[in-house]
Amino acid sequence: MKKVVKFGGSSLASPEQFEKVGKIIKSDPHRVYVVPSAPGKRFDGDEKVTDMLYGAYALAKKKKSFTKELNAIKARYQEIIDGLKLKVSLSGEFDKIKEDFEKTCGEDYAASRGEYLNGILLAAYLGYEFIDAATVIFFHKNGDLNVEKTQKCLSEALNNTPKAVVPGFYGAMSDGTIHTFSRGGSDITGSLVAKACRADVYENWTDVSGFMVADPRVVKNPKSIETITYRELRELAYMGATVLHEEAIFPVRKEGIPINIRNTNAPEDEGTWIVEGTVQKSKYVITGIAGKKGFCAINIEKDRMNSEIGFGRKVLQAFEENEISFEHVPSGIDTMTVFVHQSEFVEKEQRVLAAIHKLARPDSIDLETDLALIAVVGRGMKDTRGTAGRIFSALAHANLNVKMIDQGSSELNIIIGVKNDDFEDAIRAIYTIFVDTQI
Ligand code: ADP
Ligand code: ASP
Ligand code: MG
Repeated sequence: MKKVVKFGGSSLASPEQFEKVGKIIKSDPHRVYVVPSAPGKRFDGDEKVTDMLYGAYALAKKKKSFTKELNAIKARYQEIIDGLKLKVSLSGEFDKIKEDFEKTCGEDYAASRGEYLNGILLAAYLGYEFIDAATVIFFHKNGDLNVEKTQKCLSEALNNTPKAVVPGFYGAMSDGTIHTFSRGGSDITGSLVAKACRADVYENWTDVSGFMVADPRVVKNPKSIETITYRELRELAYMGATVLHEEAIFPVRKEGIPINIRNTNAPEDEGTWIVEGTVQKSKYVITGIAGKKGFCAINIEKDRMNSEIGFGRKVLQAFEENEISFEHVPSGIDTMTVFVHQSEFVEKEQRVLAAIHKLARPDSIDLETDLALIAVVGRGMKDTRGTAGRIFSALAHANLNVKMIDQGSSELNIIIGVKNDDFEDAIRAIYTIFVDTQI
């Protein structure tokens, strides 16, 4: 039995958190490979080391002094070294980082040092071997993961090392340049390590007792989800439930390795199991709710558009030509609406509108901004009648205006569009009707 354990930033933010992590690892001899993030926030309002590194590097790039900023980062690590009485010095590492920053070595390199240094400290604390991710995780020139090379090098390294710490978030291109995953990407490293060593389970330790039915920052004390499928999780992660990076499921999914989300601050809690499939019914009709703000809707009207062959394609072509991806496209007899990310759309809006006019010759186009999309996800929805109706009535009771409702063909999710300002209230209303009233 082998377990891969990934610890997020808040789990490794201070010496006290390191001690909790040490206890968790030592309490189970199967926890042999450890993937750490960079030190995260120690308290509300604190700064993550990754953000501090981006900040310091931005100054270095402008050829401004970054001494103060780098010293603040150094202090974060020194606090951990002193608190744990480690016999490690990072001063040589920091001299090198300073030099590399001055040579403007790249933003990814800068950010990756957060995990790299934390990995060195954690390996020393646990007495585990340190494996630099740059020697085992590889990217192609275009930034995509080099799956074959990574699998080969990583599994070889792990085969030769019974207990190791592999820092998360980064790897290297074939020329040695450091490259990172997108933010939150240590979850992906953990998943790759789990696949490479054929782990029995991938434990992802964070600061909540598993995946909750809704974001705990929106709904007070939401219920935890015991078991969730990869597909459900992907829908929720994509729509903003950031507990686990949405790409972290791919490496383990095909290998049948379950992911267990656990709480470093409450290790006795079972957390959430993320599995390929399950016959277990979820406690409620829905498994989870998540959402994102910052969309806009382009409403296109044309009489009898439904009988005009190719109309939809022409409209979408206008977005394609301007390299804008669309999120949802609900349509009716004479109307079609395209939901896009507002930030991507604003700078190109006039070009897109002109292209729609030219290609599709609509009667009218109007725009609606500041919208949010909410996904209600659940494998139980397809066997339950009236889910959409309940969502509608919950929102109506809460006096919230629904801009759009769209059910995916998989019947795994229902997407609802509301005003940005109504976002939190809408999530709370949906949570209440499915979880609190439980009818
Ligand atoms: P880590 O640093 O350990 O990787 P993250 O901050 O990436 O942790 O993810 C955990 C956070 O995700 C929680 O603290 C919580 O605020 C947030 N979150 C958002 N949606 C949910 C949800 N549905 N369930 C649990 N946590 C959620
Ligand atoms: N430290 C990185 C971030 O803040 C990666 C991670 O935490 O997974 O995004
Ligand atoms: Mg995370």
